[in-house]
Amino acid sequence: MEELIKRIESKRDDLVALTQDLIRFPTINPPGEAYAPCARFIGERLAYRGFSVQYIRAFNTPGDSDTYPRLNVIARYEGKRPGPCVHFNSHIDVVEVGKGWTRPPFEGVIEGDNIYGRGACDMKGGLAASIIAAEAYIECNPDFAGAIEISGTCDEESGGFGGVAYLAKRGFFDPDRVDHVIIPEPLNKDRICLGHRGVWWAEIETHGHIAHGSMPFLGDCAIRHMGAVLDAFETTLFPALALKRTDMPVVPEGAKQSTLNINSIHGGQTEGADGLPSPCVPDSCRMIIDRRFLIEEDIGAVKREISHLLDTLKAKRPSFTYDLRELFEVLPTMTDKDQPVVKAVSGAISQILGTQPDYVISPGTYDQKHIDRIGKLKDCIAYGPGILDLAHQPDEYVGIKDMVDSTKIMALAIQTLLGNTNPS
Ligand SMILES: [Zn+2]
Repeated sequence: MEELIKRIESKRDDLVALTQDLIRFPTINPPGEAYAPCARFIGERLAYRGFSVQYIRAFNTPGDSDTYPRLNVIARYEGKRPGPCVHFNSHIDVVEVGKGWTRPPFEGVIEGDNIYGRGACDMKGGLAASIIAAEAYIECNPDFAGAIEISGTCDEESGGFGGVAYLAKRGFFDPDRVDHVIIPEPLNKDRICLGHRGVWWAEIETHGHIAHGSMPFLGDCAIRHMGAVLDAFETTLFPALALKRTDMPVVPEGAKQSTLNINSIHGGQTEGADGLPSPCVPDSCRMIIDRRFLIEEDIGAVKREISHLLDTLKAKRPSFTYDLRELFEVLPTMTDKDQPVVKAVSGAISQILGTQPDYVISPGTYDQKHIDRIGKLKDCIAYGPGILDLAHQPDEYVGIKDMVDSTKIMALAIQTLLGNTNPS
């Protein structure tokens, strides 16, 4: 263990430079900028260190084109003897830059102990930490049994269909190939994320009847019908959701209950480029809802709650009609604390930081959903450096000390999961 820790400390500059290099690829999603050069950069580094590297383009997934190919990289280092495989999965995409930055977003500027840039925290710092952890472990344990994999995948920020979902469907997370998965998302270096709440997205459309805006009594306003839906949300739905509490350790505190966001609402004709308003009674209004639900809830009941609310309105409100279209769903997932990867990372956190980890559940989903549901692999957590609250913010950064600590924790976890097989 001492040798492994020293080895990682000696790689501090390498860790910093690697993080900066990764930040310098502006892998903004959408549209999926610079995925291919970023994937090849990771692959070439690991190939040089003896990994066998595969590039897998997720053809025909959302956004994939020759201009913006969804190129994923998977690198595998085979130990000297057969044994289990530890896999680190990081997404290479970052969200848009947005306003409010006081530093350049794609240069990897260092100030004090922090490296700044879009994706520094979510999650190129974590990707760099996992690469250095794997390299240090292999150097210290050249005869280890088992295998280590590192993947850099696309589109996590937009659902992961061209990334982990695509790879999972092709067997890359099958339990006969991979045993333990760590996703270095920024959850803070002393916390282990066991899973996430569920998601259901749907579109509600209310219908009306078009007429001249000067004679609204001759039409039927779809927006007023949607107003009735909003009113029912306020008076009935939101109070009911607030009462649904979970035993899952969700952070932050406000997400320990069922929630619903109204993502968007569109009614009537859009204003022209000249900004002139529509002269008509709107005959359609559409709302997208984002319902986050708990492991204690049944997804069927979640859906029925909304359709029941709409049917109740239909029964009492003249000419109210609606359509409900389902868009997307993910079931909640929570890895058991007795799973080997949880115990290994928890033990490493105690050794390096001298504290017991906090176990948390993410309010939103991440790629664990595909590893769990498609890959059928249950021994999976998210663990990585970076402060969760900084993700997607202006002046996003990752702390160098936090990265070094997390790298040590990841390397010790590999050692626990694969064994210390250094020849004497
Ligand atoms: Zn992320």
